[in-house]
Amino acid sequence: MGGMGSGDRYWRGKKPMVEDCWEVDTTVFKRRGLLAPGTHASGVLTRTRRRTIFEETTATIGYTVDLRDPGGGHVELRYQLTPPGESFTYPVGLISTPCRFGGVRWWFECPLVWDGQACSRRARKLFLRGKYFGCRHCHNLAYFTSQRSDRRVRAFLKRGGDVNAYAKLSVGVSLSAMAFSLKLLEWRIRKLDRVRDQLDHGDET
Ligand SMILES: [Zn+2]
Repeated sequence: MGGMGSGDRYWRGKKPMVEDCWEVDTTVFKRRGLLAPGTHASGVLTRTRRRTIFEETTATIGYTVDLRDPGGGHVELRYQLTPPGESFTYPVGLISTPCRFGGVRWWFECPLVWDGQACSRRARKLFLRGKYFGCRHCHNLAYFTSQRSDRRVRAFLKRGGDVNAYAKLSVGVSLSAMAFSLKLLEWRIRKLDRVRDQLDHGDET
């Protein structure tokens, strides 16, 4: 992992920042009439959150949609995380695919990078987790990665802990049985993701 894909600090029990948990949706840009060839327009997305009865916070994300080049459109996203006040500006690819009954459907191209490889998955929604917007699959991956690199595992192995013995003694099943359970769980999560994606795409025409 590197660059924009660095996921090691995601969801480490830290309270989300104001703009954390944002999501951007191509339908919002569509509703604003921006998803048409030749568009070059800027604007802001605003969200107000009531944190307590007395406290309200407003967060904004700046954007510039650029669809002037028929070969490849993009939207530039600009935002600041508070704290620590770090600013981000980067382009996210915008692509369209034809719909079965006419018209086109718009997608973001996930901008996250894993091990030097761009994700580039098509997604109607991108989510801000940590510092960057990315597709659901990437953020799930970041979550699993952070779970896997648990500090306790390293400490256990450093102490000379026997993984197989631990599994049998404390969990009561063999390591291969646990690996199988994990595979089943991952399969289930992937299936739920697919169902959710279908639901997400279903409401756009
Ligand atoms: Zn992705």
